[in-house]
Amino acid sequence: MSSVFCDINEEHASENVKKVPGAVYLCQTEYMTCGACCGIYNFNYTSRQNFFDRILDRTLKFEKIKRTMDAILEFGDAETKRIESLGDKPFPDFHHCPFAGFMDTLHYKPGCLLHPMSEKNNGVDFRGLSYYGGLACASYFCPTYYNVSPERKLMVRNAVEDSYTYGLVITEDEMINNIFDLIEKKRGKKIFPHEVNDESLIMLEKILKLKIEWPLRSCNRHPANYFFGDAETIRNDLDPEQSEVFNVLKAVKASFSDKKDILDAEKLINKSINDFVDLL
Ligand code: SF4
Ligand code: SF4
Repeated sequence: MSSVFCDINEEHASENVKKVPGAVYLCQTEYMTCGACCGIYNFNYTSRQNFFDRILDRTLKFEKIKRTMDAILEFGDAETKRIESLGDKPFPDFHHCPFAGFMDTLHYKPGCLLHPMSEKNNGVDFRGLSYYGGLACASYFCPTYYNVSPERKLMVRNAVEDSYTYGLVITEDEMINNIFDLIEKKRGKKIFPHEVNDESLIMLEKILKLKIEWPLRSCNRHPANYFFGDAETIRNDLDPEQSEVFNVLKAVKASFSDKKDILDAEKLINKSINDFVDLL
């Protein structure tokens, strides 16, 4: 887990922070990376292990191909067909890039197989061969960069331990803000990264992991998130009822058959928030 103490001015930590909106670099940390905006989760996988197996298989295949335009494009087409053969994507209109793979030698950190830093690319940037094109790939920043405060971003970044969870959670800007609003309401004051000790950090991770480990009724077990500008058209079957925890319920894809289900879900979330605050 990352260090408990974080400095908002983290320019010492990464050069990248100077190039991104919102003071905190999110796409890559010392231990984790995110490939959510490449659509890395947007395919029909059945479990976390199945996700890793599929992306690893792609990565190993890509390592063997020649770095020529024809070979790369052919690889992309074949990989897109393989993904299509797995069934419908969770978000059919959202691209799944066939070049999203693992960049590190341990095959653990999601990243771009066409990136100049990717092993075997010898510093050449092949992202221009992708669906979005090199410029879009290099300059896109997801809503969390703009909508979540630097303090909250740092606390999420510190709490989550693995890349799979990180990419799914970090893109849930509304859920993140909902959780911290509840925490601050319960405390009656703002929370800052230096106040989060080891125990409360573990509790915070548990709360964020509700995104992928929601224990109650759920309308769709696939955890992928759609976070582009037209996302408000994507709704689940929740009757909003102005629930205080609505954005958490939306992110975890909670499902309800009656009012009791909603109350149970609210109770679960509020208990977790209370436990977190009690540990501070
Ligand atoms: S989804 Fe956000 S944090 Fe993740 S790689 Fe894209 S821009 Fe970075
Ligand atoms: S080519 Fe672009 S969209 Fe595809 S993995 Fe690389 S950065 Fe992501």
